[in-house]
Amino acid sequence: MRELPVSIYFSERVLEGSVRQRQINALGKSCLIVCGASSAYKSGVMDDLLPLLKKNKQKYQVFIEIRENPDLESIMRGKELLLEGGFDFVIGIGGGSPLDAAKAIMLAAANDLGIDELYNVERMTKRLPLVLIPTTHGTGSEVTQYSVLTDTATGRKAGFGSELAFADMALINPRYALSLSPRISLNTSIDALSHLLEGIYSTQRDKELYSMIAEGISLIMQNLELCLKEPQYLPAREALMRASMLGGVTIAHTSTTLQHAIGYPFTTLYDIPHGLANGIFMRQMMDFYYSEIGDEIAQVLEMAATTREAFYAWLEKFPLDIKVPITDEIIEAKIPEILGARNTVISPRKPTPEELRALLKTVQK
Ligand code: NAP
Ligand code: FE
Repeated sequence: MRELPVSIYFSERVLEGSVRQRQINALGKSCLIVCGASSAYKSGVMDDLLPLLKKNKQKYQVFIEIRENPDLESIMRGKELLLEGGFDFVIGIGGGSPLDAAKAIMLAAANDLGIDELYNVERMTKRLPLVLIPTTHGTGSEVTQYSVLTDTATGRKAGFGSELAFADMALINPRYALSLSPRISLNTSIDALSHLLEGIYSTQRDKELYSMIAEGISLIMQNLELCLKEPQYLPAREALMRASMLGGVTIAHTSTTLQHAIGYPFTTLYDIPHGLANGIFMRQMMDFYYSEIGDEIAQVLEMAATTREAFYAWLEKFPLDIKVPITDEIIEAKIPEILGARNTVISPRKPTPEELRALLKTVQK
């Protein structure tokens, strides 16, 4: 197992106390806060963070322009703001979209990247300190080296991974997820579940990760329904936040694989939220890999105190079985894109074009 260069703090008081205040003070005199339209405020993060920055006499500017599935243009606007303000460090607050954007903005500014260089990891040699504060329990981006961006010109969603994109500190507080709607709670939890499963569906899988993956799966299976019924029930949020973080640690080792590569076009073409896009094919993906690595999948499910049948029955409880108006022409255009994706290359079983076509047709309206 590799060592992740992120200090992870997980607590209901993660932005309180003199130790945290000193740690943040040590990062510099001023920061750019990168977030979405409202989640940094609705979640309560700003209520905790801004007084801390004020006490430290640290200046800040808030860049609230990050939308779901951040586009390259918003990264460039953030980069300009960061350079103009001469800020010393970056704080990303939100779901995966603002957290990924904060990584990309930080790297774009530190390395003066142009819009066509945002995926060019070889150009990334410098960085600024980065703090990430998640408000969803899905991506685990606060502990990963990935940033997933969407190129609106080509309609392509893809990620890059750089050691320099790891946060210095991940500040996780389950309370920040209490304001999530049931729909976003479900979708983001399914994303975390995908990350955990893809830790097995990868040529980079490592048996040393399996007990952690099993713990994450079990936390989600035991708490998701409860969380949807009682969104304000903190222990369920805590369990899901932990599972999301464990999913992030998992993919920091193994990367995401085919399930994410299949999901991306559903988000860019039909606006299907990222987690749900992974969930549509969750059962088919497990079926697909069983012939190749069934022993290992069964082993992890057993460690999670479940079985394949029980897992499938559990999945049925959630509205993941959606249909989209995908045409045969679009399916044909997407097959080479999915088969050529970085995440597909590390899949322990690669679908043939015929298998992928059949899979995609199962969701046709
Ligand atoms: P998101 O796109 O960041 O946010 C989805 C929605 O949830 C937004 O409307 C957001 O509002 C809202 N929201 C977030 N936190 C909230 C809260 N506490 N209360 C109320 N509303 C809240 O969602 P996400 O699923 O976490 O992130 C998805 C992105 O992450 C995708 O682009 C995906 O590809 C990427 N991803 C990255 C990794 C990685 O390792 N880096 C892994 C998997 C996925 P605002 O608009 O106000 O923020
Ligand atoms: Fe994901």
